[in-house]
Amino acid sequence: MTATIDHPATEVPSTPAEYVALDEQWSTHNYHPLPVVIAHAQGAWVTDVDGRSYLDFLSGYSAMNFGHRHPDLVAAAVEQLGRVTLTSRAFHHDQFGLFCRELAELTGTELVLTMNSGAEAVESAIKVARKWAYQVKGVPEGTAEIVVAGSNFHGRTTTIVSFSTDEVARNDFGPFTPGFRVVGYGDAAALEAAITEGTAAVLIEPIQGEAGVVVPPAGYLARVRELCDQHGVLMIADEIQSGLARTGELLALDHEGVRADLYTLGKALGGGIMPVSAVVGRAEVLGVLRPGEHGSTFGGNPLACAVGRAVVKLLATGEFQQRSKELGGYLHGRLNELVGRGVAEVRGRGLWAGVEIAPGGPEGRVASEALAERGVLCKETHDTTLRVAPPLVITREELDRGVDAIAEVVAR
Ligand SMILES: *Cc1c(COP(=O)(O)O)cnc(C)c1O
Repeated sequence: MTATIDHPATEVPSTPAEYVALDEQWSTHNYHPLPVVIAHAQGAWVTDVDGRSYLDFLSGYSAMNFGHRHPDLVAAAVEQLGRVTLTSRAFHHDQFGLFCRELAELTGTELVLTMNSGAEAVESAIKVARKWAYQVKGVPEGTAEIVVAGSNFHGRTTTIVSFSTDEVARNDFGPFTPGFRVVGYGDAAALEAAITEGTAAVLIEPIQGEAGVVVPPAGYLARVRELCDQHGVLMIADEIQSGLARTGELLALDHEGVRADLYTLGKALGGGIMPVSAVVGRAEVLGVLRPGEHGSTFGGNPLACAVGRAVVKLLATGEFQQRSKELGGYLHGRLNELVGRGVAEVRGRGLWAGVEIAPGGPEGRVASEALAERGVLCKETHDTTLRVAPPLVITREELDRGVDAIAEVVAR
């Protein structure tokens, strides 16, 4: 077949507008990015193609918890690039077992299943929970159910959007995967009512990020654990966004003293360098997988494991959890001063906040654009919430700068 598409001569754009136009023409339109074209980044700052600097108040939705190009993470990646990057799981390699052991030790779990993206980790947890239900719990084949929460966000695969309650994420992508029940987030009575003999697991975000950094009512997560214990149901915590020091603890569930049977981890696990995800949890559950039943060409590759080990090492010091706790208290204090001055509500924990713009204020998109003009990058979720998740290396002065910009943008 001959090419019928007329490709223009290759030119390198020079202005941000030209870069945006290039993206618009040649990439699918599944995002609506702010018109900022980043060319360089370091720590909590990014620089655009014109050399203009911006404070990063989003951190790649918590993928950049350690800031851009953390020297330890870059060094680990560079070192590994000089040795071996991919072996496939057909063979062993010298980083794999160490990464799994170190991640298990950090998270207090027994087994690690390595994958790449967050969605793959969630898919993997779903498969493991179903198999566990058939093999261990004795649920009749093909009938296992998983209870999930309304307004959830667990990724974009066909199975995962099957139980999304966001019409934009779901519409036109059916037929959908059966076997899920949706109950209101934070509603323990509804959760209890949804559990049957066939329930394999409850899959839940300890704090709902995409929904707008929604923290459930006090005691809810402990009650979920209790219900799971009573009914022999697995508790799966999706900590892809909430985990790895974002909230001031290693895992968001740690605030409640609750342990899940399985955790899904991703985003910051790859240090902002590459996608690294994992399901970690109890051996009795993850142990149901046998050779050939699940896998991934890139999952657990040497480069991913080397970067992941450096991430685990940073987290093991507790320094980032501490920073998130202290600076998070400061951030929330400052943001709460804006309530009644253009902000309706501030939610969240640690260096993570959902800032609800008061009625009559700018739409989220407009506010995000106005913030970018003031040199602060964050992104709205839904129409009225600004999602603030700065890198955990940010300073108090930098937080002030970002909050001052938010105050200006939302002021009525
Ligand atoms: C981002 C996210 C995912 C999906 O991760 P991807 O790497 O984008 O596939 C799943 N769950 C939660 C809670 C997330 O925040």
